[in-house]
Amino acid sequence: MTDEANPFESLQEQVDDAAAHIDVADGLLERLKRPERVLETNLTIRMDDGSLETFRAYRAQFNGDRGPYKGGIRYHPDVSRDEVKALSGWMAYKTATVDIPYGGGKGGIVVDPTTLSGGELERLTRAFAEELRPLIGEDRDIPAPDVNTGQREMNWIKDTYETLENTTEPGVVTGKSPDSGGSAGRVRATGRSTMLAAREVFDYLGKRIEGATVAVQGYGNAGSVAARLLESELGANVVAVSDSSGGIYTPGGFDAAAAKEHKNETGSVVGFGDASEEITNEELLGLDVDLLVPAALENAIDADLAETVSADVIVEAANGPLTPDADGVLTERDVHVVPDILANAGGVTVSYFEWVQNRQRFYWTEERVNEELERIICDAFDGLVTAYESYDAPNFRTAAYIVAIERIVDAHAESGTWP
Ligand code: NAD
Repeated sequence: MTDEANPFESLQEQVDDAAAHIDVADGLLERLKRPERVLETNLTIRMDDGSLETFRAYRAQFNGDRGPYKGGIRYHPDVSRDEVKALSGWMAYKTATVDIPYGGGKGGIVVDPTTLSGGELERLTRAFAEELRPLIGEDRDIPAPDVNTGQREMNWIKDTYETLENTTEPGVVTGKSPDSGGSAGRVRATGRSTMLAAREVFDYLGKRIEGATVAVQGYGNAGSVAARLLESELGANVVAVSDSSGGIYTPGGFDAAAAKEHKNETGSVVGFGDASEEITNEELLGLDVDLLVPAALENAIDADLAETVSADVIVEAANGPLTPDADGVLTERDVHVVPDILANAGGVTVSYFEWVQNRQRFYWTEERVNEELERIICDAFDGLVTAYESYDAPNFRTAAYIVAIERIVDAHAESGTWP
C-alpha cells in the first residue's frame, strides 16, 4: 500500500472536482467537505490477564440531510481521525449515488484485533457501543460491519444498545447474523454489487465480460465474493488474487471459490493451486488483465502504480483504493474506473434492506434481496452514465459525485436553512 495520500484530503478533492461542474454555493460546498461531528473517545477495558488497556475510538457523522447517518465500524491499527472522516464522507456520497434514504457515517477503533481474545474483543465492542449509545439509533445513526468486524460484533452492539435502552430495536445496527435480525444476502452484497458494476460497465463499453481475465487485490469479504460471482454468474476468468501475505497468478485462471477455501484453511491465498506463480501485490496491479478489482484498503494505487496498470477497466470494491493522483493518471490513460461509491454500494444497500425488514418485522427471501439490489445498482449505473455524458465529466467518479452532490444539495435546500 502507498501512504502518501491523506484519505480525508482525497475525499475533499473528489468533492471539489465534481462541484466544479455544477452550481453549488460556496457556503454549502464547505458543508459538503466536512463531517457534521466526530466523536473521539477512549475505551478502557480489562484484559484477560487482569490489566487495564485503553483504545482510541472514533465515530464520524458526515451528513444527515438525506436520512440517518449510516456506515461501518472498522477495527485496525491504522484507524485515524482523518481516515474515519473520509470514510464517513464516502458513505454519504455512496448512499446518495445509489439513492437510498441515508446520510453517511463511519467509526473505528485503533486496534489489531488479532492480538485480542474473543472475550477482550467482546468487552471492547460493548464499551464502544456504550459510548455510541447517545448517538446511534435506528432513526439517528446506524453502524454496520467494515474491515475486521462482522456479524458477531454487530450482534454485540445491538445487544448492548437494547439492554441499555430497555427495548428491542434490531435496526440500530445492520450486518447482524440472521437469528439476530440480519438479512439474507447481506454477507455477499458488496461482492455482488461489484460483480453487477463490472457487468454494467463492460456492457456500456461494448466489451465481453464472459471469459474476461480478472485480478483481485485483497481476498476478504468484498474481494473473494466478487471473484466468485464474477466466475459463477458472468463466466469471467479470475487469474490472480492477493492478500496481505502476497498474491498468486495462474494465466489460465483458477477456481476462485477454491482459492477462498485455501485462504480459510491456511490464512492466505499464497500456496493455492499447483500451477500458480507467486506474485507481489504490486505485480498483481500491473498484470495484463481485462478487469482489475482493488478490494483491500485505501491508497492501494498511487500515481506511479497507476502508470503500471494494464487493465482497461477498474471496479473499486474497496473504499478509496486510488489516490487522486492515480485517478488523474488513469483518466489520462483512458482506463475506466467504476468508483467505490457505486461499485461497493451493495453492502449498504442490503443493510438498508435489513433495516427495512427489521422495522417491518417481515423478512425477505435472498432472491428478493438480490433482485432489489440489482435494480438499485443498475439504476445507479444508468444515472452515473447519464451524468457522465450530459456533464461531459472527465471520468465516472466525477459523474457519480455530481449525481450525489446534487441529491444532497437538493435535500438540504428543500429542508430550508434554519435558524
Ligand atoms: P476484509 O478484512 O474481509 O478483507 C480485506 C482483505 O484485504 C484481506 O484479504 C486482507 O488480507 C487484504 N489486505 C490487507 N492489506 C493488504 C495489502 N496491503 N495488500 C493486499 N491485500 C491486503 O475486509 P472487507 O470487508 O473485504 O473490506 C475490504 C474493502 O472493502 C475495504 O476498503 C472496505 O471498506 C470495503 N468495503 C467492504 C464492505 C463490506 O460489506 N465488507 C462494504 C463496502 C466496502
